[in-house]
Amino acid sequence: MRRIVLIQPKRDGRIFGKSPGSPYTLMRLASLVPAEIPVEIWDENVRRLPLDTLREGDLVGITSMTVTIEGAEVIARRAMKQGAGVVVGGVHATLLPEHTSTFAHSVMVGEGYFTWQQLVQDFAAAGIKGMQPEYRDESWADLEGLATISDRVIQMVDENRHYWTPYLEITRGCVRSCDFCTAIRVSGRRMRLRPVDEVVDEIQRRQIKRFFLTDDNFGLNFSTDPEYRAELFEALAKLDLHGWTCQSEMSIAKHPELLKMSVAAHLDKHFVGFESVNPDNRSSLGGKSKGQAQQTREAIRIIRSHGVGVVGLFVMGFDSDTPATFQTMWEFVRDSELDSVSTTMLTPFPATPFRMQLEREKRLLDSPWRHYDTAHVTFLPKHFTVDELRRCYDWLCRKIYHPSQILRRGTRSLARHPLSLAGKKAFGSFSTDYGYRRTYAYRNVL
Ligand code: SF4
Repeated sequence: MRRIVLIQPKRDGRIFGKSPGSPYTLMRLASLVPAEIPVEIWDENVRRLPLDTLREGDLVGITSMTVTIEGAEVIARRAMKQGAGVVVGGVHATLLPEHTSTFAHSVMVGEGYFTWQQLVQDFAAAGIKGMQPEYRDESWADLEGLATISDRVIQMVDENRHYWTPYLEITRGCVRSCDFCTAIRVSGRRMRLRPVDEVVDEIQRRQIKRFFLTDDNFGLNFSTDPEYRAELFEALAKLDLHGWTCQSEMSIAKHPELLKMSVAAHLDKHFVGFESVNPDNRSSLGGKSKGQAQQTREAIRIIRSHGVGVVGLFVMGFDSDTPATFQTMWEFVRDSELDSVSTTMLTPFPATPFRMQLEREKRLLDSPWRHYDTAHVTFLPKHFTVDELRRCYDWLCRKIYHPSQILRRGTRSLARHPLSLAGKKAFGSFSTDYGYRRTYAYRNVL
């Protein structure tokens, strides 16, 4: 074997010179490669890929999301043409292995922590001939001691130079059952926890001051494992961090003590999946939200009263939504105390109950995978034509991401902090909304 090259296909590219988030999964898989085998991580968001250097003896691993799978296919075909062995893994490969196998020697299904090293051994022993068509993790790995990021990889990626927000994992999995979500199919229903000392060690060795958690639903853990959560916050409070953010749910409002501890632990904002302000959608929301505007408002008020910011995550286009839902949504956001807002278009990702329902009802549009970016309409809505839903969504995004609204929410977010911290907090106060505005504007022209 000559080397292993792990590739992240392009998604957002660079913003003001850096890519939004680091290639965290690839960093962990690269750390499992034995020290005697050269390994490289190529992130197409950061640089042009030197694909012409690939040749026989190289093992190329490409990570895939549904929205990036077309780019992954182009890279995979080019690498195979030049004689490299190619494996494609990640979310899309896990949800649709049959599709992925049409342009790779192997498909990695699942998290890969049980099978990645086997693949490396197979390739080292017999090259492409040694690769099996599919490597499948049959169970969920315990997170203790799992794929600790090595110093070799930390130096190679140089996160602070190339990325605005390093990613970090503390928990994995979610017990909820939202019918549009892929997380439970990719990460499982059991919530797994990383030992606190391993989390602290990784933050210190990577020398990161800010991070975003990849955890599917970090907030659920406030209710399910409060002792673990308190231990984690106590440990993080001792570190010199600028701030970190996570994905969450509104049940955290019921845990005032933990919210207080989280502020001391430098947790700056929860991205809370409220999902909808239309109560008729509650059967799709997995039990974490009832779509009640008043209840949502109250949860935001309580969480913010402890000094933690709230980014509201909302999905539009459910079967019970009508044009009036968009007006209600705008009024809700306009009058809310949210720090930032994400409004996305409901998207029928592979292997979800929502997609299966649409398939049964013959309502799936023949959209390219690159439109599975949560900003395009990819199915026939119930109470709209496709064009009407698109227009309603565009109208809402223009309202919510108008510069005056971003300025208003960002200033409110900044005001949560003492003046002495304004320098450290200014970037994070405006960057989330700016990122969503840019994403919406950019994807809308594709
Ligand atoms: S709560 Fe979040 S992570 Fe869990 S199933 Fe629902 S959308 Fe997915």
